[in-house]
Amino acid sequence: MTENRPATVIGAGPAGSLLSICLAEQGREVAVYESRPDMRRHDISAGRSINLALAARGIAALRGVGVMDDVDEITIPMRGRMVHADGRQELHPYSSRTDEVIHSVSRRDLNAILLDAAEATGRVRIEFERRCRSVDFARNTLVFTDGSDGDVAYEAGFDLLFGTDGASSVVRDAVLEENGGTCVEDPLAHGYKELTLPAGPDGGFQLDPNALHIWPRGEFMLIALANPEGDFTVTLFMRHEGPGDCFAALGDPDAVVALFEREFPDFVPLVPDLTDQFFENPTGALATVRTRGWSLDSRCVIVGDAAHAIVPFHGQGMNAAMESCRVLDRHMRDTDDLAGAFAAFEAERRPDTDAIADMALENYVEMRAGVVDPDYLIKRDLALELERRWPETFIARYGMVMFTTMPYAVARRRANAQAEILSELVEGVGGVAEVDFERAAALVAELGPLPL
Ligand SMILES: Cc1cc2nc3c(=O)[nH]c(=O)nc-3n(C[C@H](O)[C@H](O)[C@H](O)COP(=O)(O)OP(=O)(O)OC[C@H]3O[C@@H](n4cnc5c(N)ncnc54)[C@H](O)[C@@H]3O)c2cc1C
Repeated sequence: MTENRPATVIGAGPAGSLLSICLAEQGREVAVYESRPDMRRHDISAGRSINLALAARGIAALRGVGVMDDVDEITIPMRGRMVHADGRQELHPYSSRTDEVIHSVSRRDLNAILLDAAEATGRVRIEFERRCRSVDFARNTLVFTDGSDGDVAYEAGFDLLFGTDGASSVVRDAVLEENGGTCVEDPLAHGYKELTLPAGPDGGFQLDPNALHIWPRGEFMLIALANPEGDFTVTLFMRHEGPGDCFAALGDPDAVVALFEREFPDFVPLVPDLTDQFFENPTGALATVRTRGWSLDSRCVIVGDAAHAIVPFHGQGMNAAMESCRVLDRHMRDTDDLAGAFAAFEAERRPDTDAIADMALENYVEMRAGVVDPDYLIKRDLALELERRWPETFIARYGMVMFTTMPYAVARRRANAQAEILSELVEGVGGVAEVDFERAAALVAELGPLPL
């Protein structure tokens, strides 16, 4: 590589902070502009997910930039879903292999590790409370204001621009206006509300911390992930508007208490200030964003949620965003043809991000309804049995997405073929023990070896 053009990164979330480390490792000087205050010194506002599920793809990306040892210190392993139904709790393991777990991690702490690592390269300068308002590609300049709603506008030039400014990306809008690309935003009819289930009186966890808790209720659900401080971040996902139970119908404390006592009676005694929290915290919106035209010649590319925001039901948005950064980094290394590298990045990656967008939507139905459906349960048990018998050929869909780095599009194709196999094998049987495993062997062999 003969060129080392300086880079400007808009947005210092997981994608922007990780990408700035990659760019510094490429030998570039990097300026990062982030609209929020420095989260290492200020609380981030409520309403954004406080903790996240970190899985293999995110871990591989974090390992690639050398921070995984630090991240390991702040994660809590979750070995399966703890399903709260019919007054009982039942653990559904994520995998037939005990070492395959996902990890609850604080968004703030993870981001702080990445910001520290970026600054430690000595090449990354981060300016907080700088909101990018517009991009002028005729003059290669950016307009900023101070903070999120400040009105002091000033300009800065750029050479190489990276849009990691999230699902409502300003950089994306500017790129698409220039390159004639498209952006389709598909809002979900369901939104979310975050609550905190506090630590118990002794400071300990009130639920098993090593599981992702789900209260599946058909059209809506509650989930909870543990934090190292002994509390859980809880999220209610449900329709914004009716028919049926919805946020619009939860307009006063009586309605909230009635819903929670009817649907989540084991949860209510654990959160004494439930209604206060419910009305203090915002109700968030969710959407899938599919974009075509991620780059503008050799000057600009968008990465992470800016290019491919997805709904959170597979716990993959951040994992995918960080994996995308590594794919982009690979394309940029050892070439001066950045326009070609950006185009190759999108060509490789978009089929994968489209695939995880679809799988994330499908997983919502699985989480809120499937996990208590007898047909789902027998298929899940059989999938784990097939994994045990033919580990070189069969991994359940959840495992391919969460515990491997095989391209999402490949995982989706195999998952669809596997779903047909599972449907055929469970036809007319009452349990996994009754499955015809000779037939299973033949069907699984047709899948071919896993591309690991
Ligand atoms: C409820 C919920 C739960 C989730 N759970 C998971 C999970 O378990 N696992 C998982 O992998 N993913 C999860 N996600 C998805 C995950 O949060 C996102 O995919 C991830 O944060 C994307 O990272 P990003 O850096 O691309 O964008 P963002 O995290 O949105 O970061 C963008 C950054 O850019 C800044 N910014 C925005 N506009 C501007 C501007 N104009 N100028 C300057 N700065 C700007 C923002 O302040 C922000 O810091 C969840 C999402 C939600 C909503």
